[in-house]
Amino acid sequence: MIGLLAAGAVINVAVAWGCMIHAYHNSKPLGPYVPDFVPTADDQNWWKRRSPKGMVPPDAVNEYKYVGYRERRVFGDGPLLNVNPPGTLRELSVRSRAGWPLAGVYCEWFSVADPQGPRGIGRVTRGCFDPASHPATASLSRVVPVIPLTPLFPGFAINTLFYAAVCWLLLFAPFALRRRLRRRRGLCPACAYQVGSSDVCTECGAPVR
Ligand SMILES: [Zn+2]
Repeated sequence: MIGLLAAGAVINVAVAWGCMIHAYHNSKPLGPYVPDFVPTADDQNWWKRRSPKGMVPPDAVNEYKYVGYRERRVFGDGPLLNVNPPGTLRELSVRSRAGWPLAGVYCEWFSVADPQGPRGIGRVTRGCFDPASHPATASLSRVVPVIPLTPLFPGFAINTLFYAAVCWLLLFAPFALRRRLRRRRGLCPACAYQVGSSDVCTECGAPVR
């Protein structure tokens, strides 16, 4: 049982990451999406609570929906940077939900104008693994910006049970079906020897009633 649940949890997370990698890998740019519209009160509240200090308030939203992956971005014109020619950088705040059949893991990240950062952009991440920050996973960062690590409830639990049930079906259902068919045909469920009048199999000793 514990083993099945552990397998279900591992598959759940693997599917979620697979869905996100697929969404990024399969469509450049990431899509399909709902184009620019005005941030909702919920977007604004989230952004106020979670964004790093000093970010500009967002004025636009994109939402991307893919199989097992959803991403909501709010962004606004960043501060004027002393570049040549002078210009602003779009600051971006992103919420990612990944998983199938339900969204089971979550993370958020922020692209902040930072004259010291590479290409004028610094990044703050929350609840995710940043593949660019580790040499072993750096190549993955060319496909996905982040890997979500925060479990979302109830999606995480339901997905885990779902995949545990799939594992159970694949592992045990064929044997349960075989035992039932043997019983119906008057054979020992354990070894398929013909059942006589005894309550145990005369071949292998298994109970047959
Ligand atoms: Zn038997």
